Amino acid sequence: MGTYYRVKVILPSGGDLAPDRRAGLTALIEGELDKVNRLMSTYVDDSEVSLFNDHRSTEPFAVSEETFVVIGEAIELGQLTQGALDITVGPLVDAYGFGPDGALPEVAESELRRLRARVGLHHLRLDAGVRTVAKDRSGVEIDLSSIAKGRAIDLVTEKLVSEGYSDLMVEVGGEIRVAGRNVLGKPWRLGIERPQASRGGVQRVIELESGALATSGDYRNFRMIDGERVSHIIDPRTGRPISHWLASASVVQPTCARADGLATAFMVLGTETAWKLAKENDIPALLLVRDGDGFIERATPAFERRFPQEGNRIPRPAPE
Ligand code: ADP
Ligand code: MG
Repeated sequence: MGTYYRVKVILPSGGDLAPDRRAGLTALIEGELDKVNRLMSTYVDDSEVSLFNDHRSTEPFAVSEETFVVIGEAIELGQLTQGALDITVGPLVDAYGFGPDGALPEVAESELRRLRARVGLHHLRLDAGVRTVAKDRSGVEIDLSSIAKGRAIDLVTEKLVSEGYSDLMVEVGGEIRVAGRNVLGKPWRLGIERPQASRGGVQRVIELESGALATSGDYRNFRMIDGERVSHIIDPRTGRPISHWLASASVVQPTCARADGLATAFMVLGTETAWKLAKENDIPALLLVRDGDGFIERATPAFERRFPQEGNRIPRPAPE
């Protein structure tokens, strides 16, 4: 996935994992991550998604259950977000030079029109009974990059839980899912990064016992074209990379696939629309908006309720 991963498991007995157990767990974790990569990466030539993308015909294309579930969830999130999350944006992602095919520095109106004819969720037909995906015209592609990382985190988490671990943290490239407690027996403390190109700054720390935190931003993965910052996130409504003051969107959800997908969608929608949609759906979200050299925080009511800032935190009732 072109990034790092980090997993913490807390042993009920305390102490460290025995080396052979540790090696076994590492193999399990990497097995899950590899599986998602092998099935869903557009950078892997013979992944299911790449084969679907190369598939010229409109005949239904059979996929694994894993891939089918992710495509289904991405489409559902696409509907929830008024088309902001659109896994058919691949041809546009490639055109702006973020996909596996390299750069095409400038996209002319005519070229954009041609590409956009292949983009839109209405081009896809899913059949859950036989687990197939069909495109209604040749050239329609699927790009699961906005959500696959989150799904991989969910699969690793489920695997560890099925192995009997209940206190754990799984992170892949900044997206995180936690369960249970940390090594101090407290809820996990997760940092929401300040959206700057250099790593390190933390804007907010939240305490989470169970669930996932995903952040999408235009502050790290971008290209400079003619002196302008071009984001890797495409607005399907215009066919162009997003360009606005929203620097990052962080979302908390029970699963990381959902958090990951929504975070990307919120970046597309921009501050006001994203905030309103998150509020209406009671989604905890923190939007960081550029303001001079700093950032303005826009947190939804659900976010403020779940993660009260230090200082106005409501004390926990003492245990009986
Ligand atoms: P990251 O992979 O950097 O964590 P995201 O989760 O936000 O970022 O996913 C961004 C990726 O999703 C892009 O690199 C691109 O492949 C794809 N993408 C871009 N725009 C959209 C969109 N509107 N809907 C779905 N996927 C998108
Ligand atoms: Mg995402």
